[in-house]
Amino acid sequence: MTADDVLIVGGGVIGLSLAYELARKMASPAAGVRVLDQSLPGRESSWAGAGILPAAVLRSGDHPYLQLAGLSHALHPVWSARLREETGCDNGYRRTGGLHLARTGDDVRILRQAAGEWRASGIDVRDVPCDGLAALEPALDAPAVLAAVHVPDEGQLRNPWHVRALLAACARRGVVVESGVRVEGFQIEKGRVKAVVTSDGTRSAGRVCVSSGAWTRALLAKIGLSVAIKPIRGQIVLLNTAVPPAVPPRHILNEGSRYLVPRTDGRVLVGSTEEDAGFDTQTTPEGVTGLMQLAITLCPSLRAAPVEAAWAGLRPGSADGLPYLGPVPGVENCFVAAGHFRSGLHLSTGTAVVMSQLILGLSPEVDLAPFALDRH
Ligand SMILES: Cc1cc2nc3c(=O)[nH]c(=O)nc-3n(C[C@H](O)[C@H](O)[C@H](O)COP(=O)(O)OP(=O)(O)OC[C@H]3O[C@@H](n4cnc5c(N)ncnc54)[C@H](O)[C@@H]3O)c2cc1C
Repeated sequence: MTADDVLIVGGGVIGLSLAYELARKMASPAAGVRVLDQSLPGRESSWAGAGILPAAVLRSGDHPYLQLAGLSHALHPVWSARLREETGCDNGYRRTGGLHLARTGDDVRILRQAAGEWRASGIDVRDVPCDGLAALEPALDAPAVLAAVHVPDEGQLRNPWHVRALLAACARRGVVVESGVRVEGFQIEKGRVKAVVTSDGTRSAGRVCVSSGAWTRALLAKIGLSVAIKPIRGQIVLLNTAVPPAVPPRHILNEGSRYLVPRTDGRVLVGSTEEDAGFDTQTTPEGVTGLMQLAITLCPSLRAAPVEAAWAGLRPGSADGLPYLGPVPGVENCFVAAGHFRSGLHLSTGTAVVMSQLILGLSPEVDLAPFALDRH
């Protein structure tokens, strides 16, 4: 049995970012940080996502969720540069800018309201006159668009690259990451986790953090804690615009909750569906066809772009859209960071900072009360 300073259950972007931040902060750890993953770390939702980083501004008076988003957003360029410096890996961080589009009267109303809220939270949001749209975004079927706003501070990460950089940075700082080790329960003694029971024996640690994404509900039920987290499937289609006449968009194109994300190598990610399908990660003909329709009607030349791949991932959806971040009530040395739904990539940096502060006995710089585990 090993004894670590901190043991993290789940090696998605949340668990790996937290492990990295803890290892950075614990300059001379007594024993270290360990991450256990039941399959391959970083291969679930964190691999499958689109990596969009929506614009956000950190302001002290705002709701803690906006503060977490603002903190995370400010940290992404810093983390990207640091990860590259420490590991040589480019995580694909780019400040691509986003266009938000409406092609129906109802969507125009919804877009105007959303744009008003973004402006009120300090985000730079620019109205795009319809006659200026084609010049700003030549790939777009501009005449079909009734309203558009430009958000220059919207960015992206390339998920597999980011996970690879995090894994390399963790390894460099001595974090032990174990693949294929499933956590099956907890031995609790005198209000503390004494050991974690796994498919490969037990592991003990001073503190434990559960970051097991869409699988968190069943795991926490083993210590009598009920959290409203369930898997919400999202499908993605990857197009390759390397061959003309397909023209990739220059910006991230958003229409409602669906989007096109251009990568630097000419690939375009088209996402995503939102489905309550349990733990099924199959794509469906309807899902893929719907996304192709979106791509072709927004950017007609994408009709010529071959589909390179399609996949689905499981977002850790929470009932109120907020993640669970905080201590497990009644279990002194156990914490949870899970349930980030559609925003886990974006919120991962800020989550790592505030959860590492909490776990190390410091005061988190964002008020975690709205994210409490017993809020329901
Ligand atoms: C299609 C799609 C598009 C998305 N787009 C975006 C986006 O543009 N921007 C954004 O910010 N977010 C996006 N997301 C959401 C984002 O991907 C997730 O919120 C984020 O990846 C959640 O990270 P996680 O570490 O909590 O979960 P995961 O990445 O799922 O990691 C959880 C890990 O825990 C492990 N695990 C589970 N149970 C156990 C156990 N009992 N023992 C050991 N290990 C266990 C799993 O194997 C897994 O590796 C998208 C998601 C999807 C599916």
